Amino acid sequence: MDYVYLDNAATTPLDGRVLEAMLPWLRRPDGGVRGNPSSLHRAGAVASEAIEAARESVAAMIGAVPGEIVFTSGGTEADNLAVFGLAGAAPPEKRHAVISQIEHAAVREAGRYLEERGFTVTWLETDGFGRVDVSRLEAELRPDTAFVGVMWANNEVGTVQPVAEIAELCAARGVPFHTDAVQAAGRERIEVGSLPGVSTLALSAHKLGGPQGTGALYVGTGVELTSRTFGGGQERGLRSGTENVAGIVGFGAAARLATGEFTRRVHTERALRDRIIDGATQIPGVRLNGHPSRRLSGNVHLTVPGAESESLVLMLDALGFAVGKGSACSSSGHKASPVLEAMGQGADEAFSALRVSVGFENTAEEIDAFLEALGECVSRLREMAPRTLKANSPDMDLQTEKGA
Ligand code: PLP
Repeated sequence: MDYVYLDNAATTPLDGRVLEAMLPWLRRPDGGVRGNPSSLHRAGAVASEAIEAARESVAAMIGAVPGEIVFTSGGTEADNLAVFGLAGAAPPEKRHAVISQIEHAAVREAGRYLEERGFTVTWLETDGFGRVDVSRLEAELRPDTAFVGVMWANNEVGTVQPVAEIAELCAARGVPFHTDAVQAAGRERIEVGSLPGVSTLALSAHKLGGPQGTGALYVGTGVELTSRTFGGGQERGLRSGTENVAGIVGFGAAARLATGEFTRRVHTERALRDRIIDGATQIPGVRLNGHPSRRLSGNVHLTVPGAESESLVLMLDALGFAVGKGSACSSSGHKASPVLEAMGQGADEAFSALRVSVGFENTAEEIDAFLEALGECVSRLREMAPRTLKANSPDMDLQTEKGA
């Protein structure tokens, strides 16, 4: 068996059909050049038409209209544009935001930047599954709240948020709402047309079979945003800079495929995900994190007491399996990621976290081989584990497991 890729939450393989769609925009065509989409001549016009076709496909994937899609360099830029754009467009007396504690760094760090510059941010707690409580959110809204930020689904533990209820609340209170749907797009049904409370929504092509370095921000009709990119005024003045035509065309192709194959992909991923959950939780002490049912189709997030994440990832890699560490821990010290912390987990649990994220191209045979390798690695690591790590794993009977 070749190398088995089970880290689709980090990035997905580029779909061969997407690559085919992109190639003409990277090659010099016979007898011509690919123009700058802003140029008036034919070479520019065809590039501009290709971008507009991609805009339609991306809009269709989330139930938006094409004019509501702003292409960016990825999910991070889309999130930054939303956070700073909504804060910048708010009236001067509105200097408060409610942002969940489990956001990706692209939203969290943007929120921290605002905080350092005089904004007040309420960092909204979640329950033990990493889910936001809408009544708690409601209690945090203030007359000076400029915007709310709660992601559609979490990249670490896979928990899906009650976005429709949050959107309804924000619409009723007239508060702009940004949601990061980078992990959710292609895996959850997104219909922004029926969620008028969603003001902005971030997307990234490389999480759904598209190229890295391309993303988009949905900006609902009538939503006011300020820009932080100054230049030629492309993308409705919200994102100046010559467009990444090949990347955008690839994003459009990936969005079309994700829309057309949605049901098949989600069913395939769910079956593989549940196979991993069933198999991995048979290993003594191993438990699932995140919501048991309201979770992304491809996400498995585990705590593996007695096995340190990095060692486990490297050992599995050596055996031919790519998985994620499960916790974006601070590089400076032994600290849980803000996501696991918000869920009430300590550093020791984060230290033993593993994220396995399947894609629709994975197979049951690959999963079975992975489960075998996981069992083997966990036993070996537990045998080598220092006493302190074992002592920090009170819910695991290491003796029993060793003897088994
Ligand atoms: N938001 C979430 C939830 C993500 O998972 C990621 C990527 O890991 C991003 C934002 C950033 O997207 P990009 O890698 O396209 O900048």
